[in-house]
Amino acid sequence: MNTSSRRNFLKSLGGATALASFPTLLHAATNGSRVIVIGGGFAGATAAKYLKHWSPDLNVTLVEPNAQYRSPILSNLVLNGQRALGDISFNYNTLNTKYGVNIVTKWVQGIDSAAKMVELSDGSKLEYDRLIVAPGISFNPVDGLDFAKVPHAWQSGEQLLLLKQQLDAMPIGGTFVMTIPPSPYRCPPGPYERACIIADYLKTNNPGAKVVVLDANPDIIVEKETFSHAFDVTYKGIVEYHKSVTLESVDSDARTAFTSAGEFKSDVLNVIPVHSAGKIVLDSGLANHATGRWADVNPISYESTAIPDIHIIGDSQGTGQPKAGHIANAEAKVCADAVIRLLAGGLPYAAPMTNSACYSPISTTTASWLTAVYGYDAATDTMKKVVGSGGASIGVSRENHRDMFTWANSLFDDTFA
Ligand SMILES: Cc1cc2nc3c(=O)[nH]c(=O)nc-3n(C[C@H](O)[C@H](O)[C@H](O)COP(=O)(O)OP(=O)(O)OC[C@H]3O[C@@H](n4cnc5c(N)ncnc54)[C@H](O)[C@@H]3O)c2cc1C
Repeated sequence: MNTSSRRNFLKSLGGATALASFPTLLHAATNGSRVIVIGGGFAGATAAKYLKHWSPDLNVTLVEPNAQYRSPILSNLVLNGQRALGDISFNYNTLNTKYGVNIVTKWVQGIDSAAKMVELSDGSKLEYDRLIVAPGISFNPVDGLDFAKVPHAWQSGEQLLLLKQQLDAMPIGGTFVMTIPPSPYRCPPGPYERACIIADYLKTNNPGAKVVVLDANPDIIVEKETFSHAFDVTYKGIVEYHKSVTLESVDSDARTAFTSAGEFKSDVLNVIPVHSAGKIVLDSGLANHATGRWADVNPISYESTAIPDIHIIGDSQGTGQPKAGHIANAEAKVCADAVIRLLAGGLPYAAPMTNSACYSPISTTTASWLTAVYGYDAATDTMKKVVGSGGASIGVSRENHRDMFTWANSLFDDTFA
């Protein structure tokens, strides 16, 4: 993508909107139907907002345990002090006051699909006509791992602050060890971005310290040239990258990782474990992907292939599209459109498209980017990357770093405002 097309792309994040289909005359027919959305992240909050925006007569309830959503996007900038947690925190007030979404600040602890009800953490129940499930990710257990001592910081909030605290307190010349899980995981460039941000921080604040990256993948999985250059040139002598290293167990007190390549002791240990769909997806019989870790869905409606009238969007779904917030926002619009059409007795739009964008800060002033467009392929019944679409930045630049905030603010607004 050249500079001018990238600018157009940034300006029209609603382009995720433009790439999705739109309901038009179906509003009245959905009158009074009840849609519950589980989870108020990029997927769930967008779905709740656009359901009401496009079909105001719907009765839409968003169930989310936290009054504030802490964005994982830009969260590495909390580690280097360029952003405070408050800068990437959002509430659901506008969804309620401007769009009329009911907000219920509780956990969903069970789904009764036969009775079409969800059970909340206080034991109360809510009935639905259609249910949208968007709980993000859960982590597979690792022997010996205690997140209170060894943070993942892969969901934002307290974990991020704990990692920041440990980083700031690291002894001079110390070692930061991080593990990367096998793909698919949330935000393909994210762990490499984190290694760069930590290295940049240590270069200035902790001379002699190093970052050891233990990657379970056979190589850097995206933006290989950009990250190889960062590791081998920009942060030469600071970043030590090891590929094909599987984490086996952890001694959380000693901050030691035991791996297929031996034992790695650290001063700060950051383990990002293998991901699965959010727990409510796993517990509700929705994780019917061959791996048992994700929810298989019909890609034109995001309706579960296991249980009717339940749709799964965002990082929990198993279409093979990247697990990322920008595309979660696009999936949410496709899903909201399909739900409105289905409730009105119609069919989902048959040719949906989605797009993905990730910006990676590489230092306090430079960043790279990666983007792709996906379209429904009826022959294979999958979302396929559109040939020739998207691309990646050539290297890193200050302009990318500035564009990163324009892009992120557009995404935040499109989801929460
Ligand atoms: C360092 C980093 C950088 C990133 N950078 C980018 C980027 O540049 N571009 C990009 O597109 N993506 C990026 N991402 C990825 C992005 O943050 C995730 O893919 C995105 O948050 C997924 O959205 P989601 O709605 O599926 O899940 P989440 O954002 O995790 O939201 C899930 C919500 O569901 C709620 N929930 C869970 N279970 C329940 C339950 N039982 N009942 C009620 N609520 C529940 C949770 O509280 C949470 O609020 C990045 C991630 C990281 C970690």
